[in-house]
Amino acid sequence: MIPFLDLTRQHAALKGELMAAAERVLDASQFVLGGEGRALEAELAQLCGARHAVGVGSGTDALRLALTGLGVGRGDEVLTPAFSFVASATTILMAGATPVFVDVQPDTLTIDPEAMARALTPRTKVVMPVHLYGHPAAVDRIAAFAQARGLAVLEDNAQALGATWGDRVVGGWGDAACLSFYPTKNLGACGDGGMVVTTRDDVAERVRRLRHHGDTGRYQHVELGYCSRLDEVQAAWLRVKLRRLGEWTERRRHIAARYLAGLAGLPLRLPVERPGARHVYHLFTVRHPQRDALAKRLADAGVGTAVHYPRAVPDQPLFAADGERRWPEAYRAAREVLSLPCFPEMTDAEVDGVIDAVRRACEDLG
Ligand SMILES: *Cc1c(COP(=O)(O)O)cnc(C)c1O
Repeated sequence: MIPFLDLTRQHAALKGELMAAAERVLDASQFVLGGEGRALEAELAQLCGARHAVGVGSGTDALRLALTGLGVGRGDEVLTPAFSFVASATTILMAGATPVFVDVQPDTLTIDPEAMARALTPRTKVVMPVHLYGHPAAVDRIAAFAQARGLAVLEDNAQALGATWGDRVVGGWGDAACLSFYPTKNLGACGDGGMVVTTRDDVAERVRRLRHHGDTGRYQHVELGYCSRLDEVQAAWLRVKLRRLGEWTERRRHIAARYLAGLAGLPLRLPVERPGARHVYHLFTVRHPQRDALAKRLADAGVGTAVHYPRAVPDQPLFAADGERRWPEAYRAAREVLSLPCFPEMTDAEVDGVIDAVRRACEDLG
């Protein structure tokens, strides 16, 4: 059996350090908005090349609070890809605004800059590129497009911490970016957590206030805020893991290179790494016209897989748009994508086992 993901391996290896970090927090007994959170904020701001980072309760809250921090509210439109995790769109609704779906580029499944230009209206306020699966969206073109029209860019960087586009780390291209520490992400907490990174002083200040009841200090509540902070135990654990992120990313890239060599020549569409991009392979996602049959054969061979995602976002019951013609690439992706096991603790023998199973399944399917 080769699992799709096995987090117990990571935690067994780090257990001593994680327990020591938890003990430090217990001894200090300051559980929210303390020193561990501030230290993690400084470390991640530096990694993303941004001036500020603000820890919050989840990646979803990071997007929602960043949107409000960028001044998005009722009557505004935000451009978001038609293919992503659902939170890239629902957070726009939570902020009181309207998501406007844009189709994705077929090679990376990230927002299509040309389709984005066509979706623009006088109400457009923000564009939200998602660095899906760990590959950067075309952020240079998107940032130039936004700047020329006075729009803000909010990067959904939940899946691509440490990826680069050109000479810059993603999360440092836009006005602000969100990070998610959902347990399965490349830097995963042992629970929920998220962060807003930004170079804009005004956005950082607003998000700091929004995460803590709209408080400017000493119980002065100047606006409707929320209760969404990153707690100290998670921050301390994330700091332990952050020290490994570089080597984990190298390991993900090694696994991906092994897959790309071993799966070449099959009737599969393999992930690409565009020139100028450094992919961090949060997911290694292939495409096959008979995706469900392929997944079934792999399951029978003892290989775990997952589908990210089985529906285009506007096709979710929540939105129920009739959108096959408007966002054809997103709808096609939803029928074809299949993620293979790709986590740093996998052995090379397991990677080779997946390659063999995929080769046999493809022969079977003809
Ligand atoms: C995980 C994820 C989120 C939400 O993060 P949570 O921490 O789970 O709230 C948002 N966008 C994308 C693309 C994600 O993968």
